[in-house]
Amino acid sequence: MTLSLKDIERDQVARIRTLTTGAFETANAIDTILAKTRIKPEDRATGEVAELAAPLSDDTAIGGPFVEPETTEAFDNSLVALDSALVRLERARTQAKSLPFNNPSPASDITSRFGNRLDPFLGRLALHAGIDFRAPVGTAIHATGPGMVITAGRTGGYGNLVEIDHGNGITTRYAHLSTILVNVGDKISTGQSIAKSGSTGRSTGPHLHYEVRLNGQAVDPMRFLNAGIKLTQYIN
Ligand SMILES: [Zn+2]
Repeated sequence: MTLSLKDIERDQVARIRTLTTGAFETANAIDTILAKTRIKPEDRATGEVAELAAPLSDDTAIGGPFVEPETTEAFDNSLVALDSALVRLERARTQAKSLPFNNPSPASDITSRFGNRLDPFLGRLALHAGIDFRAPVGTAIHATGPGMVITAGRTGGYGNLVEIDHGNGITTRYAHLSTILVNVGDKISTGQSIAKSGSTGRSTGPHLHYEVRLNGQAVDPMRFLNAGIKLTQYIN
């Protein structure tokens, strides 16, 4: 026999640790992207988990004479660490999938961004609380994340409005719609067609006005759209 059981075990430990490192790096990458949207990951890895996933200790990495009990321990520890890493990765992916990272009108150009601008009706500077997509009347509008409809109807200057609650204090609003395809209380999945664009309410022409709100406060939807683009390589 050219390969002893210990050699095989050492090889297995090395493979498991590579998988562990990969899972942790992916979870970290997702967390970093989520952090840029200022959403706190619900549950970061504990120090204990991080320690378990530490790189190979020198004695197993450089080979040399093996003492069986230590190697077995290393194997067991490596499995525990892999399990922790996979749990953490799954948690990060689940959170990323629960938030509104998709584009509500993917084929449409963005014509106005979030921030202060000259208000088209008032003629003075005012906060534009969302982003506008140029969209002919009747363009399909898609939910940007999973959630529940909390508004579906005429709402002041928004005209026909759909608002979806995504949990974590986050809602999205889709305004100036011509047709609404959902009702309050409906559960919505990511990408679901919820309405058709229009020019109802305080609107100068056909477009979709899209907002993301965090605890009721409007935030720049570009943060979420950009994060969504970056997340695609880590999710699915
Ligand atoms: Zn707008």
